[in-house]
Amino acid sequence: QVRVRFAPSPTGPLHIGGVRTALFNYLFAKKNNGIFFLRIEDTDQNRFVPGAEEYIMEALEWLGIAPDETIGKNEKFGPYKQSERKHLYKQYADELINSGNAYYAFDTAEALDSHRKQHEEQGKTFIYNWHNREKLDTSLVISLEETAIRIASGEDYVIRFKTPVNETLNLQDIIRGEVKFETNLLDDKVLFKSDGMPTYHLANIVDDHLMETSHVIRGEEWLPSMPLHVLLYRAFGWEAPEFAHLPLIMKPVGNGKLSKRDGDKMGFPVFPLDWKTAEGISSGYREKGFLPEAVVNFLALLGWNDGTEKELFSLEELENKFDLNRVHKAGAKFDPEKNKWFNHQYLVKQNDEDLAKVFAPIVSEKEVSVSENNLIRIVGLIKERANFVSEFWDLSDFFFVAPTSYDEKAKKNWKAETPALMQELISVLSEITDFSSMNIETIVKDWMTKNEIGMGKVMQPFRLSLVGALKGPHLFDIVELIGKEQTIKRIEKAID
Ligand code: GLU
Repeated sequence: QVRVRFAPSPTGPLHIGGVRTALFNYLFAKKNNGIFFLRIEDTDQNRFVPGAEEYIMEALEWLGIAPDETIGKNEKFGPYKQSERKHLYKQYADELINSGNAYYAFDTAEALDSHRKQHEEQGKTFIYNWHNREKLDTSLVISLEETAIRIASGEDYVIRFKTPVNETLNLQDIIRGEVKFETNLLDDKVLFKSDGMPTYHLANIVDDHLMETSHVIRGEEWLPSMPLHVLLYRAFGWEAPEFAHLPLIMKPVGNGKLSKRDGDKMGFPVFPLDWKTAEGISSGYREKGFLPEAVVNFLALLGWNDGTEKELFSLEELENKFDLNRVHKAGAKFDPEKNKWFNHQYLVKQNDEDLAKVFAPIVSEKEVSVSENNLIRIVGLIKERANFVSEFWDLSDFFFVAPTSYDEKAKKNWKAETPALMQELISVLSEITDFSSMNIETIVKDWMTKNEIGMGKVMQPFRLSLVGALKGPHLFDIVELIGKEQTIKRIEKAID
């Protein structure tokens, strides 16, 4: 059975790249009738940030990609939080010690620093592995007897992985194909610390094994950890899951990875939801007025497509079409402008009643009154021009309040005869009893034809009187919605 996981560390709000990882795992699970689970990797107590865990759950819920199993939900292989699994990891570290795949090390921070410096001075990179150390400084390779004494005396230690020497690993990545690593270039990473906590590497492998993870789908930044992880599975004698490393998400302009700073500089969110701290708020997609469908859609295309030009995908379509083999390895450019376009596509698909409900509080803040029905109609008339509900007011204010100024250029184009024509128009309008858009349009156009008055001569000043500018939806829809009395009042004011 396919079992995939999203395994964030709660070190802050979820970055949009993390959400993309969650989404791809979710989609892969759904496509393969598998299970998508969420595991919180909080073994690094120093980097723990309160609220981050709840934020992660809320973000996934909002996007509609909640996990099948997680803390408090179908805890088949629970607990799903590593700090609550603490007691589990030591035995696995011991197992590796006993099988000769790991060793105790007592280096102080100062000793490590001095080794690093020695290497730098010789223009070499410092690789911490046992065979290098042996050559460097034999006193650092310690006998088992001495190890036992030092641990018993309470000295701080770490348990490190004993990386095999002189091996070339030819590993398979679903997205990248074959990837090669030389074991001699790998550090002997710390697996366990004397504070009783495992490191990310050990906890991650143990849990992926115990939770029966079939595929590890994660960001490219974890690719360098892949050889160690594969070696750990081998050392335990466990079958390793398959790996897929997703492409980096790149800055909108220039090169390099997308960062929070790009978002701050260019004014777009890099978080799904607002993140509030004492220093202020980092804005999220939800609060910016994005629809979750739009966010899911643009995230899905960060590294994947279905092989056609198609860009709009509902979550359901993605669940059917997603294919890891179609994920490319080249970095995927993040395009905040295009993201707005995606939101527009989903905004116009929403029904007017729902949009009116979101718009209503904005309207009532402006202290104007409008019937529910009219608000629904107004929304229907303007939504095509908007990317967000927050733009509705500027696109529709003339429905609620008479213009207080007129576009100067348009007003300058008024002819000497314009006021008289508008006066005539007022008479025509006041005669109309069925004040509906279609009927008003027919009657006004008949009047123009009969009197051989050019369209522009009436329509432009008419619109300017009602809207204050030559913009807005179909004029006769505006006329109907603001009503006869208000229409006449506005024309009178404009020619005054
Ligand atoms: N806890 C790691 C992270 O923060 C998980 C990496 C992985 O998926 O293996 O992303």
